[in-house]
Amino acid sequence: MGEALTKYVIIISFDCLSSLDFPLLQALPNFRSLLKNGAYAKHVESIYPSVTYPCHATIVTGNYPSRHGVVSNTLLQPGRHSPDWHWYRRSVQGTTLYDEAKKANLITAALLWPVTAKAKIDYNMPEIFPNRPWQNQILTSLLSGSPLYQWEMNRRFGHIRNGLNQPELDDFVLASAVHTIETKLPNVLLIHFTDLDTQRHLHGFSSKQAMDAIRRHDERLGQIINTLKKGGIYENATIIALGDHSALNEAKALHVNVLLRQNELLKVNKHGKVKSWKAYCKSCDGSAYIYLKNSNDTDTKQTVSQLLTSLLNDSYSGVEFVLNGEDAKKHGADGNCLFMLEAEKGYYFLEDWTGPYMKTIMPADVTANKKYTLATHGYSPTKEHYTTIFMAAGKGIRQNIVIPFMRLIDEGPTIARLLGLSLGDTDGKIIEELLTND
Ligand SMILES: [Zn+2]
Repeated sequence: MGEALTKYVIIISFDCLSSLDFPLLQALPNFRSLLKNGAYAKHVESIYPSVTYPCHATIVTGNYPSRHGVVSNTLLQPGRHSPDWHWYRRSVQGTTLYDEAKKANLITAALLWPVTAKAKIDYNMPEIFPNRPWQNQILTSLLSGSPLYQWEMNRRFGHIRNGLNQPELDDFVLASAVHTIETKLPNVLLIHFTDLDTQRHLHGFSSKQAMDAIRRHDERLGQIINTLKKGGIYENATIIALGDHSALNEAKALHVNVLLRQNELLKVNKHGKVKSWKAYCKSCDGSAYIYLKNSNDTDTKQTVSQLLTSLLNDSYSGVEFVLNGEDAKKHGADGNCLFMLEAEKGYYFLEDWTGPYMKTIMPADVTANKKYTLATHGYSPTKEHYTTIFMAAGKGIRQNIVIPFMRLIDEGPTIARLLGLSLGDTDGKIIEELLTND
């Protein structure tokens, strides 16, 4: 296991930070100082499907989704327009960084880190939002995290928030993070910022709004660094700034459930609600799973196979490749699916079962309905120019080290090693080159 190289680790996830953002990060004062004082990997391979909840479960476990079990953002709930998300810790199989830290009597804190509801974290404000008309935001959150702590953060900084809108939400998270460092001095602090991801979805990958979000992130990073300096723990702390996935612009949505419905594998009542299904396409945005209701249903399996073959033979279908369940598992995704589909660049999947197979997306659609976006992720990590970044500086981190390539699965084991902890036998490995020897 090895001795701890640091006592304090602050892990900041800048959702949707891309390798392509590197030149801008180098030009911003706080990211630049992090890069100058520490080590970084400019190209980090994400996981499949490259969506936020599976990615964040991978970061804290060191495992692919096939192993930690968070194989998509949301649960398989055919027919639900807004399915529930993998909010709860119970969705993650095996141990995590925060569980190991807690076992070692370290103080843990997490702010909007995905899949941590009801986790054993000392100061926890999980990312969970109400999905039923009778639930209310404050109560849902309070009951899923640390009630007193969240009550206190909401009392002090709730006025900064404007629902789930950005940049206000991240500013609220930042104020809470600063206060948490000042008053709780956690050994492990997990922070999840989503400003950049939101702007990219709404306005496009390289939009002015996305670039402004990166500038705001630089200021947020600066405030965290200043808080550590003021508290006198900067010299003993380690800052880790990372992304979970990149994104790609798209302009066409694919509705595979429309085809399943045409083949009577999905039946809809007169109100347009799903009445029954034999096969269902579950979107992970840039990719999609196809599930069978009954895994022994060979007739349905055959119909779906034929359908996908015709999509692959049609060069305008927007489908780049199809994996069977076994191959999906080999790529780290859910082996329980019948098939996994990868969208071509410029396309992504939605779960709609009405309307045409393909819809062209206009900026007005994005304003009108949040299921439409101008950029998205979820694609295979093998897509071109689609890697994310890992940066680390401070105690236990070597200076001026550039790691040419690493994987999202390597982050958890490496951070655990910094703290003198172990995640056990993981898919990822410790990146020793990042770490000091003492
Ligand atoms: Zn994300």
